[in-house]
Amino acid sequence: MKYYLAIDLGASKTRIAVCSKGSIIGKIVETTPKQGDEYTIARFIWEGVMKHFPEYIENIEAVGVASIGPLDVKRGVAVNPTNLPFKEIKLLEPLTKYFKARVIVANDAVAAAWGEKNYGLGKPFRNLIYLTLSTGIGAGVIVDNHLLIGKEGNAHEVGHIVVDFNSELECGCGGRGHWEAFAGGINIPRVAKWLASKHGINSDLLEFLMKHPEATAKDVFEYYRRGDRLAELVVDLYVKASRAGIASIINTYDPELLVIGGGVFLNNQDILFERMLDGLENDVVTSKPIIKPTGFGDDVGLYGALALAVNPPRELVEVQGI
Ligand SMILES: [Zn+2]
Repeated sequence: MKYYLAIDLGASKTRIAVCSKGSIIGKIVETTPKQGDEYTIARFIWEGVMKHFPEYIENIEAVGVASIGPLDVKRGVAVNPTNLPFKEIKLLEPLTKYFKARVIVANDAVAAAWGEKNYGLGKPFRNLIYLTLSTGIGAGVIVDNHLLIGKEGNAHEVGHIVVDFNSELECGCGGRGHWEAFAGGINIPRVAKWLASKHGINSDLLEFLMKHPEATAKDVFEYYRRGDRLAELVVDLYVKASRAGIASIINTYDPELLVIGGGVFLNNQDILFERMLDGLENDVVTSKPIIKPTGFGDDVGLYGALALAVNPPRELVEVQGI
């Protein structure tokens, strides 16, 4: 029997799964290394597979990698990833050497769109968007059955859509008023501090954030659930920025289906989903698509990587020369 490796390389976690053609057989979730050189991550993936799935190594047919961006897709390298301290993360070349198998690398959200199309909610549709609301914000888009890639594989860095051109709030990329500056998980504690100083608000959340510089989006949403006033403002801004961003991508790509995933969204769907979509029709000029949370949960990136490995999109095969 032939097996496939699916790798979902994220800023905080890396998921590695050994799979059959249609499903995950076994998976591990590890903390992504934050130090090393351009080969550290490839080595870490190889070592993870060697340690946990050694019995499959000889029968790996292909490896799919859903990677943090931005990418240089031709070389299969992540370049200056916004939320990791590496200049480059080499994937295609070292992983091909390690696994002696075909390797396909795509941006994680692009891969997830391909996963939804091959295995998930997107099967019946020719036009769909996968949107991830996580540490960062990104999308993968299929138009007329074509997976859109872009000249370097970064076609849909939608997190950097300007949703407020008057805003002084800075994004991780250095730009201002970007969707991700308001709603990227990594930025949410900073948004809370910014709002507190802007409006002179004191709250339990602010005190917590001052004492815990390592606080995350999860903490902010916990304070929201306790009724904290500052957390309510943060979530209100999150919802508004995301509604503007979602309207922009619907207007741009005219999808039949929009699938939403990503940790921040999936963990707080009860708070976010309906509010983000409320009034969306006022900003959308095309007919409104079906909008659903992904059915894959945290495994959406793995199913995307698996779809890359099993059924490589020809748009990527052309540029990666495989
Ligand atoms: Zn940005």
